[in-house]
Amino acid sequence: MIINVTQYLDRQVQVRKDKIAVAEGEICLSFWQLYCGAGQIAKQIRAISKENCNQPILVLCPKSIWEYTAFLGILYSGNYYVPLDIKMPKERLKLIVTLLEAQVAIVSHELESLLQEVGFSGRVVWLDQEVCNDSSDSEMEQWRRCVIDSDPAYVLFTSGSTGIPKGVVVSHRAVIDYIEWQCHRLPFDETTILGNQAPFYFDASMPDLYTPLCSGATLHIIPEKLFLFPNKLLDYLNQKEINTLIWVPSALMMFTNKDYFAQKRMLYLRLVMFCGEVMPNKHLNQWRRYYPDTKFVNLYGPTEAAYACTYYEVEREFADSEPLPIGKPCENTGIIVLDQNNKPVLGEQTGELCIRGSCLANGYYNDQDKTAEAFIRNPINHVCEEKIYRTGDLVKYNHYGELEYVGRRDFQIKHLGYRIELGEIETAAYGMPQMRQCCAVYQEEEDQIVLFCAVEKEQTEKEIFQFLKERIPRYMLPGRIIRQEALVLNANGKIDRLQLREQLNGEMENNK
Ligand code: AMP
Repeated sequence: MIINVTQYLDRQVQVRKDKIAVAEGEICLSFWQLYCGAGQIAKQIRAISKENCNQPILVLCPKSIWEYTAFLGILYSGNYYVPLDIKMPKERLKLIVTLLEAQVAIVSHELESLLQEVGFSGRVVWLDQEVCNDSSDSEMEQWRRCVIDSDPAYVLFTSGSTGIPKGVVVSHRAVIDYIEWQCHRLPFDETTILGNQAPFYFDASMPDLYTPLCSGATLHIIPEKLFLFPNKLLDYLNQKEINTLIWVPSALMMFTNKDYFAQKRMLYLRLVMFCGEVMPNKHLNQWRRYYPDTKFVNLYGPTEAAYACTYYEVEREFADSEPLPIGKPCENTGIIVLDQNNKPVLGEQTGELCIRGSCLANGYYNDQDKTAEAFIRNPINHVCEEKIYRTGDLVKYNHYGELEYVGRRDFQIKHLGYRIELGEIETAAYGMPQMRQCCAVYQEEEDQIVLFCAVEKEQTEKEIFQFLKERIPRYMLPGRIIRQEALVLNANGKIDRLQLREQLNGEMENNK
């Protein structure tokens, strides 16, 4: 029985210890080397950690095979990992470090100064970039014995509307539920060669990290800069014989925004899975034309349900303007669609998608209010307390009985593959003393965030942008800032978002 994700790696060590588990450029680690490296890190953590187990451990390092090893070392030590985006503004990193109160951090040497700047005062394990071959088997078995499957495996921070990022606490069981389903339902085995795109602090990387452990596949960490050069990226994918991609749609669309496949194709491609935002059929159809024998799967899910909870294996033909279904629930996952009165929707009515099952996160780290708001009692289960997660996503069943994504209930958006609460941008902007009013609006057609604001006269757009740049991640920065004397209000006296959207639409119409 699998109750801890590290048991998958134990298994691979039994059956294919010398096979390459993960590669980055010319550096490769076999399953055995990954296991030994993780064991070394676990040993160092146990040597300095006062607490025994089930503690958060910060990970501050660039994406690399060493970061992957660190995650596994933390898990073998009986603790859970919290990877941070090292490019995040320091103010935001500080907020997370304060919220987490971690006693131990794993850090790469070049980030020593950052650690001090963000106010971390606990113990540090420095991440060595060395391949090791020496294991500490019996101790590893003992350390992880205190962990049960409902204990956390990791915490990932997502955008929070109050300006404070939310730490989603994901259990071993949630990862096991997803990965077992994925590796048994879809063609994953030791011949699978994955190309990783997503950052490791982002939920979209979860299947990349756990598929090799569960199925014996090999993971290639693709150099980030190649994503700026689609032609070079295609060469890389062919050179490494990558046959499986689990990417966000924005990354896949890079090849179809301009017709890169007309010149060059991926030679080994057999499976493409995408999750995290809408995949427009306009783009998918181009992929399907160039790769008729490749399987495409649309996955849907929030970080709060460990990567994905519904799937649609693309089979029939779709017009460019049709929506692609998000399909049906993954195994051992329950989906209910509730109307405004918390009753299940009827027929093809639109409602909010709610998730139930052991795939659900344990809650938000040290935030009872936010947890209670999103993880509520199942209103249609009258006999016992059962938790469901309200996603805020509106969906409906189509006439095939498949779920279709309709949009967001609130103001959370997806931009460049990242989940962003517009409120977080506004909160950051309000931090500017001269800011009177502001409202962030997402302009889908232009794929840009527009910040409307009313500020003191002497403030320029450039200064506002600079202020935000120091406080929020790059992908959250507005593409355009519009200054107004005062923002329009609705009948309730609130800033009228709809009206502001209308202004942008009107402007677009006039420009046509
Ligand atoms: P994250 O927690 O960053 O993975 O973001 C989760 C949100 O991304 C969901 O609540 C949806 O709004 C959106 N999302 C995820 N998968 C899909 C999909 N296949 N189609 C449309 N939206 C999606």
